[in-house]
Amino acid sequence: SRSQNQKLTLAVGAVASASVCALFGGVVLAQYIFTKKKRAGKKTKIIEMMPEFEKSTVHIRDPDRVERIICSMIQGGASKLQIITDFDMTLSKFAINGKRCPTCHNIIDNCKLVTEECRKKLLQLKETYYPIEIDPHLTMEEKYPFMVEWYFKSHSLLVEQRLQREKLPEVVRESDVSLREGYEQFFDRLHQHSVPVFIFSAGLGDVLEEIIRQAGVYHPNIKVVSNFMDFDENGILKGFKGELIHVYNKHDGALRNTEYFKQLKDNGNIILLGDSLGDLTMADGVPNVENMLKIGFLNDKVEECLEKYMDSYDIVLVKDETLEVPNSILQKIL
Ligand code: C5P
Ligand code: MG
Repeated sequence: SRSQNQKLTLAVGAVASASVCALFGGVVLAQYIFTKKKRAGKKTKIIEMMPEFEKSTVHIRDPDRVERIICSMIQGGASKLQIITDFDMTLSKFAINGKRCPTCHNIIDNCKLVTEECRKKLLQLKETYYPIEIDPHLTMEEKYPFMVEWYFKSHSLLVEQRLQREKLPEVVRESDVSLREGYEQFFDRLHQHSVPVFIFSAGLGDVLEEIIRQAGVYHPNIKVVSNFMDFDENGILKGFKGELIHVYNKHDGALRNTEYFKQLKDNGNIILLGDSLGDLTMADGVPNVENMLKIGFLNDKVEECLEKYMDSYDIVLVKDETLEVPNSILQKIL
């Protein structure tokens, strides 16, 4: 009877461990289903399915809003899209391995056509006015007159130097300017789908055009609005054409280019790219805006400015020297 007892104990033990196993298995299965569901539920958003948005450089205040805008833009497709973009420090790099890259102006400031004395003066101006341009404690209105002063003084110095137009290509070629990583896909895809690109720059138009021409991306879908040099009949710089565009008067750009934007009245979906808070007004006055996605590069004074940038730009890219995020969005739309 002892051996019978032993058998019973064994049998009870076997049943017990079998039920523990079943229970354990059940729990694991339930957990698996739960996490799978959760994961599946989480990935219902387009921006969550895009690996580019997982980069630590990407900051978004309201992901639902970004999601909604991108969905509407996908629906609208190429025929409803247009790009309005800044140039310096938006399409061009801010720094490479910590070393600052030049703006259009800086390319001239540092070129061999400018005398040493003039270069020093231009550098002094930059050291005075650039901190004002990016000062997080001053309003755009407060900065405005200082920007006018900076441009007036620096442009006068350039005119004094009697720059030759024909030297510009060489000067650009010898500079350290660089477009952001992914610029080829960016411009080529927009060109392929005939999406209008409005480059609105407070830089120097002639230099800017030479940069994108040398990069092989100055396609016919691009319109450049900037400060263009005025040369005399001998090709010597004598002044600047049209009204000055500086960092904080971009709000009347559309007003000054009514013909262009009238033609694009059906392109109601706008992707705006900028790096300054002044760039946020680049699409002011554009007629028939349906959806606007604002993407901002925050390059400098990051801690001080991040909150404000996140309040104003839908997507903020902090110290991100690439066009990966804009490209990933364009890939979905086009
Ligand atoms: O293309 P974007 O509008 O950004 O061009 C303006 C840029 O040019 C600003 O970032 C400003 O710092 C720079 N600038 C400069 N030298 C000047 C005037 C402006 O580097 N004399
Ligand atoms: Mg800029």
